[in-house]
Amino acid sequence: MLTRRMALGAGVALLGAGAAQAAAPMRGGQVAGWYRFRLGAFECTVISDGAINLAPPYPTFGGSVATEAEVTEALRAAFLPTDRLPTFVNCLVVNTGPSLVLLDAGVGPKPAFGPGTGRLPASLAAAGISPADVDVVAFTHAHADHSWGIADAAGADVFPNARFLMTGADIDFWTAEANLALPEPLRTLVAGTREVVLPRRARFGTLATSAEVVPGIRAMPTHGHTLGHVSFLIESEGQRLLAMGDVANHAVLALQRPDWPFGFDADPAIAAATRRRVLDMAATDRLQVLGYHFPWPGLGHVERRGQGFAFVASPWTWG
Ligand SMILES: [Zn+2]
Repeated sequence: MLTRRMALGAGVALLGAGAAQAAAPMRGGQVAGWYRFRLGAFECTVISDGAINLAPPYPTFGGSVATEAEVTEALRAAFLPTDRLPTFVNCLVVNTGPSLVLLDAGVGPKPAFGPGTGRLPASLAAAGISPADVDVVAFTHAHADHSWGIADAAGADVFPNARFLMTGADIDFWTAEANLALPEPLRTLVAGTREVVLPRRARFGTLATSAEVVPGIRAMPTHGHTLGHVSFLIESEGQRLLAMGDVANHAVLALQRPDWPFGFDADPAIAAATRRRVLDMAATDRLQVLGYHFPWPGLGHVERRGQGFAFVASPWTWG
């Protein structure tokens, strides 16, 4: 009989033998950031642009509503770091058959969000998707981590054949010259968005807040994070997925306490009401969601829990 003590002893012996041989180098790095799944007749691929560390967690979350201790305790209880918020960037490619659509384009090569971002082109390549084949890039909103990835470091097109769709409210606000007078960090966000959008302005169509992007992908008004923020409802053969964008920016904090303000919400009260409405709909309809900033690959469901909600990640599927 193999006892626990014997097994532990054998393990120690094996470790000892390994240590006596050549030391293996620490490899670093990570697997390529793409995750593919079917939604009815559509082939969907979540494409990682990397991850952003938001710090400090408070008052970025919680603002004047929560205390720092409450935010710290919510993170500690979820086994997460309490000094920063690792925040993922999950773009979505949907191949509907007739159209190849990208929903949000990541941060791009600018270092504004740290060294862990700007991976979209490499992730697309690893997934076998040519940026030149993308027909439409539709944006939930104009923030840097969603729109700046349409240009490379030299300012050239990443998606040379795509037309772009963004709500008029977001195009107007984030490219307005007058808004260069806003305080930081808004000024930097406006300047960077002008830099990528204005040279391509003729290719930007105005996305009505409930408009169809292509058959099977429809915008849904979810204002608050920005004035024109939309989510995308994707539907094929009765299967549905809601790409929420930035309705909820953290899988734990924003779901447990949808009333807690998020520092980058343009209108915190409207954003909080939208957050509760969308999460409530997802829970009631048992709707699969994609959280743009949720832990990779960001797919799961929303259940009611306590005074808020909880995110239940979908299991990884193969083929
Ligand atoms: Zn975002």
